[in-house]
Amino acid sequence: MAVIKPVTADNSAERSVTVLGSTGSVGCNTIDLIRRSPERFRVDTLTGNNNVELLAQQAIEVGAALAVIADESRYQDLKSALAGTGIEAAAGRRALVEAAMRPTDWVMAAIVGAAGLAPTLEAVRRGAVVGLANKECLVSAGEFFCREVAGADARLIPVDSEHSAIYQVFDFERPERIEKIILTASGGPFRERTLDTLTEVTPAEAVAHPNWSMGAKISVDSATMMNKGLELIEAFHLFPVSSEQIDILVHPQSVIHSMVEYVDASVLAQLGTPDMRTPIAFALAWPDRMEAPSPRLKLEDIATLSFEAPDPVRFPALRLAREALDIGGSAPTVLNASNEIAVNAFLKNGLGFLDIAKVVEETMSRMPRQNLSSLEDVYAVDEDARRIATELTDAIIG
Ligand code: NAD
Ligand code: MG
Repeated sequence: MAVIKPVTADNSAERSVTVLGSTGSVGCNTIDLIRRSPERFRVDTLTGNNNVELLAQQAIEVGAALAVIADESRYQDLKSALAGTGIEAAAGRRALVEAAMRPTDWVMAAIVGAAGLAPTLEAVRRGAVVGLANKECLVSAGEFFCREVAGADARLIPVDSEHSAIYQVFDFERPERIEKIILTASGGPFRERTLDTLTEVTPAEAVAHPNWSMGAKISVDSATMMNKGLELIEAFHLFPVSSEQIDILVHPQSVIHSMVEYVDASVLAQLGTPDMRTPIAFALAWPDRMEAPSPRLKLEDIATLSFEAPDPVRFPALRLAREALDIGGSAPTVLNASNEIAVNAFLKNGLGFLDIAKVVEETMSRMPRQNLSSLEDVYAVDEDARRIATELTDAIIG
């Protein structure tokens, strides 16, 4: 079920805003844009995981009403940092969900991983306009999440640059005239590495993305190309197309952010420099447009745009994601949860880079498809997959 709708709403009034995950990479870019156009926004709530100093500084700077830290042990620190400012402090997972329930016009969903699911769902359920950066919740709970969006008449505006690009060139009134979506991928930092040298790569090399500056988890996902696999599943849920209609094309310069091909062979693309402030500004101002300070595209300087097919041997994550999408039910939930565990083990505990996809594949093979009919089902599968993936990573690390 596709959950994106064409543009119709009025955007003239000041927007009240919640930023879930304001201390992260997408969150900081969102705050940067809000700070540059203070007349357009009134910030109600900001949330972070444990970076109290940055959260308090942001809250003071944009004049937020409430700041929420997910890590309960940091509550007193947050309270002290906000003392005398009039900004309310709260902490814990429940407070995070309650923050998303506050009646703001617009919510940025930029918490990384499955932790973003519960608060994003609350924003959806109250019918907010949600700028959706968190891709894991759409992968992990796609069908369930889309039913909630449709039922609540909420609106998702994609923030992921590829989906923002597609959103901007997709003819929602004539989806049957669309032949395919072409998701572009930079290929990540290891695009040109041979398979045998990939066993050796370090977390520092994996997070050094050639074009985009992003959080650690998504940077590793870009290096394995699991990011594109998650985006394939994300695109399937966001747009009214089948999985066979979504192609992946490696485009190392990250200038064309994705394309839509029509039945008359016309291909529409959205282009720009690789700066997340452009798709974030698109979502923040939607259906209007607002200024973004992103560097302007100078095609004469870039001169050449190149393209290649993705390599399924060095980057098996793409195949696994497509398999998970085709199997459906619990398979994407297992893919996402086991990937989160494996990426974390790679970043922190010395799991090998190529072992990330192995852990995901093995977890998927041990967990046959189940139907997911409730959020509890999603959480149960997510938990099982994390347990199995943890056992597998522990066995590999030794
Ligand atoms: P990040 O790691 O830089 O930031 C994540 C944010 O979530 C931080 O504010 C952190 O405090 C918060 N957080 C982390 N764990 C949490 C938990 N357990 N409970 C509550 N809050 C928690 O990540 P990012 O790069 O900003 O990415 C955020 C999301 O956007 C991810 O889902 C990512 O896939 C997606 N995304 C990011 C980019 C990008 O350019 N960074 C692009 C497209 C999509
Ligand atoms: Mg992307």
